[in-house]
Amino acid sequence: MKKYYIIGGGIAGLSKAFFLLNKGIKGENIHIFESSSHLGGRCFSFYDKKLDRIIDIGTHLIIGANKNTISLLKKIKSWHSFEKIKPFGFPVFDIKQNEGFIIKDNLKSIKKFKNENLQNLLCESIFNVSKSEILPRYFWKNILRAGYLGRFSAQPYLAKNSLYEDLIEPLVNLLKNKGVKINLGHKLKEVRIEENRIKSLKFDSKIRIENNEVIFAVPLDNLAELIPVLKEELECEFSPIINIHFRTSMRVSLPNEVKMMGVINGFCHWLFVKDDVLSVTISDAEQYMDRSEEEIAREAWEEVCKIRGRVAPFLPNYRVIKSKKATVKKVNINKNRYNIYDNMQVIGDWMVEDYPNSIEAAIRSAKKIS
Ligand SMILES: Cc1cc2nc3c(=O)[nH]c(=O)nc-3n(C[C@H](O)[C@H](O)[C@H](O)COP(=O)(O)OP(=O)(O)OC[C@H]3O[C@@H](n4cnc5c(N)ncnc54)[C@H](O)[C@@H]3O)c2cc1C
Repeated sequence: MKKYYIIGGGIAGLSKAFFLLNKGIKGENIHIFESSSHLGGRCFSFYDKKLDRIIDIGTHLIIGANKNTISLLKKIKSWHSFEKIKPFGFPVFDIKQNEGFIIKDNLKSIKKFKNENLQNLLCESIFNVSKSEILPRYFWKNILRAGYLGRFSAQPYLAKNSLYEDLIEPLVNLLKNKGVKINLGHKLKEVRIEENRIKSLKFDSKIRIENNEVIFAVPLDNLAELIPVLKEELECEFSPIINIHFRTSMRVSLPNEVKMMGVINGFCHWLFVKDDVLSVTISDAEQYMDRSEEEIAREAWEEVCKIRGRVAPFLPNYRVIKSKKATVKKVNINKNRYNIYDNMQVIGDWMVEDYPNSIEAAIRSAKKIS
């Protein structure tokens, strides 16, 4: 029986294993190798001792248009763990104008949608780059895919507990129950090629590949390190995201009791609340990466206070997470070049044409090539 070696235990690698099982491949013939000590990659959550809460590396938003994600969540029986954000609409606060409004699927909202600053917020939220950095065709294609704020496609959903508990853990449990072999702390260091086939993989020890298949589900700079031919011709740039989680002394709220809110003309881009934790997302955050965590937390909290219309006497406990390689900004290579060897496949969020780097793109890439 042919074996499948999946390199990378992020959502792309894990969902690939799931799709292989669905195709009838036995779990014992699927092996996942993950370099770190945990699965989930960028979809990771951890217990933060300082906040005494489980927090996500970054708050992940799923929308109704993410069909592959929702279908996977239903199949692993975890869709109920995602909360439909009600009432429908995207509340936005304009810092400069000091006013809030709600973007809905009505004519008034469509007029608002012409607002350049709002388009920039959406662009930075979806693609993690400013609007001037992407093709207008690409921007509008994805806005239309999201249903132009249509009620079903644009409906936002958030993990009720944490992204790890609600997406990664149930998927991993299913894979383990089906006998998939998961190897943590296994960093692939070298790939040996002979006659246009991958012959062996070198971790701390060596694995001979013979007639088996290797699926790379790693970020593209890691792939380039492993496949020297790609390293020579690949140039890529990443775009960072900063997340700040504030733990307040009691349940925290946003105006009109909304659970999430976009911010334009400000420092923050999105605010999310869950009980006594308020999380801030700053996309396209390159310009802030050198700032100290305290400086970032202070500026974000000042803005939060302004939006909430309340003066807070002190800065609450916070955790700042800087994700340097959150998404790929630019790649200058034809993606068809990646599956260069006969027994090699490449998947991952950056592999899907015309999609922003996202959970949906990662799952879609895994499904497409299974
Ligand atoms: C802060 C932040 C906020 C985000 N917000 C959203 C959002 O709101 N909505 C959304 O849909 N998406 C969002 N994303 C993007 C989303 O997290 C990613 O698109 C998705 O998780 C990518 O999955 P992946 O499996 O392709 O890659 P990864 O998650 O990066 O997984 C790759 C795995 O490969 C492993 N690896 C690398 N090299 C090796 C090696 N040599 N050997 C073995 N293993 C290796 C890595 O350790 C990693 O676990 C966000 C990302 C961040 C960082």
